[in-house]
Amino acid sequence: MEKINRRDFNSKMTRGVAAASVLGSMPLACAMGASRQKKKLGYALVGLGSYSTHQLAPALQDAQHCYLAGIVTGTPDKEKIWMDKYGIPKENVYNYDNFDDIAKNPDIDIVYVVLPNSMHAEFCIRAAKAGKHVVCEKPMAINAEECNAIIDACDKAGVKLGMGYRLQSEPYTQEIQKYVREKTFGDVRYISAEAGYHSASNPDQWRLNKKLSGSGALGNMGVYAIQAVIYGTGENPISVTAQEFSTRPEYFKDTDETITAQFEFPSGAIGNIMTSHNISSNKFLANCSDGWYGLDPATGYGPLKGETSKGIIEFPHESQQKLQMDDFAQHVLTGAPHRAPGEMGLRDVMIMEAIVKSIAEGNRKVALNFEPGFGFGE
Ligand code: NAD
Repeated sequence: MEKINRRDFNSKMTRGVAAASVLGSMPLACAMGASRQKKKLGYALVGLGSYSTHQLAPALQDAQHCYLAGIVTGTPDKEKIWMDKYGIPKENVYNYDNFDDIAKNPDIDIVYVVLPNSMHAEFCIRAAKAGKHVVCEKPMAINAEECNAIIDACDKAGVKLGMGYRLQSEPYTQEIQKYVREKTFGDVRYISAEAGYHSASNPDQWRLNKKLSGSGALGNMGVYAIQAVIYGTGENPISVTAQEFSTRPEYFKDTDETITAQFEFPSGAIGNIMTSHNISSNKFLANCSDGWYGLDPATGYGPLKGETSKGIIEFPHESQQKLQMDDFAQHVLTGAPHRAPGEMGLRDVMIMEAIVKSIAEGNRKVALNFEPGFGFGE
């Protein structure tokens, strides 16, 4: 069985640790220092598409530890609309060309990249070079090499890097992580996760254009299913075997439509995922030695619903995006737990690459060789 090489991770992890400890004692940590003196951190959203417009910007209005300080857009028409709606001053508005000037702007502490996937690496790296903390939307990038480049750039600049994994800050998901830690239901034996929707009528969208998206359902929704089998077992997988299904090749010309994959975990637990741009599904279920737990829906914007073999679980609904952006701001401000570090995004992209490899090589089993806990949040 072929091994996925871990040397790159290890050198990067070591470098990351060394860089962090050196930076702590140097004036270089000015981005951090400046941020730490503030009560609320300013986010700049890069890319004002659907997710920024309908989720992130509204969530920032209610956040406790951060606010919407600036925007970066390639569409001049949006500038005035956003400035008026959110009271953003002209000097905090950038386009893709003058974006690097953001380095001189003390209002902006965190740059949140919300562009098509193939643009994440470029804008995250430019943000890091500008001395800003970085949040990157999922999937982190279109390959592991780009993910590593983002992590390197943030390490080198001495800035924090987080993934836009909202569920890591979400109470139902955190409750599942608690069951795993405390073995509330014993050992996980089998876990299944499904994340997909039916893409009806827009063949021209960037999500179906491999150059812009990197992959179809896998990178868009599959990342949620991969995340679920990992946080639902508390382990990184040691192998994956995957299959691809195509029923509408005339519509999904360039990207995957439906993928299933099976994982083995070090404890002996087995995971099974399905992701699709043609099948609506949004759930996960973990079967354990002393019961079970699951979420359905598991990945939407909420409210989610949870049930275990002991009964229904319920939490009040709050914006997941608000919780996520507040958590990252708190991490920068006070060193509070880092829920979704950059390595988590890298790990998930490596798993996606192994899935693609398994399919390309006749559905064979591909070994995964992560350090235990690699990519886990705090
Ligand atoms: P969208 O299509 O609504 O917006 C994309 C934005 O990028 C637009 O403002 C568009 O003008 C800009 N853009 C710049 N260059 C472009 C190009 N060449 N082609 C297309 N658009 C271009 O997309 P979205 O739904 O806002 O997704 C943006 C990112 O956010 C993606 O990485 C996506 O995976 C992620 N996302 C995450 C979640 C989540 O729950 N975490 C939800 C939705 C989207």
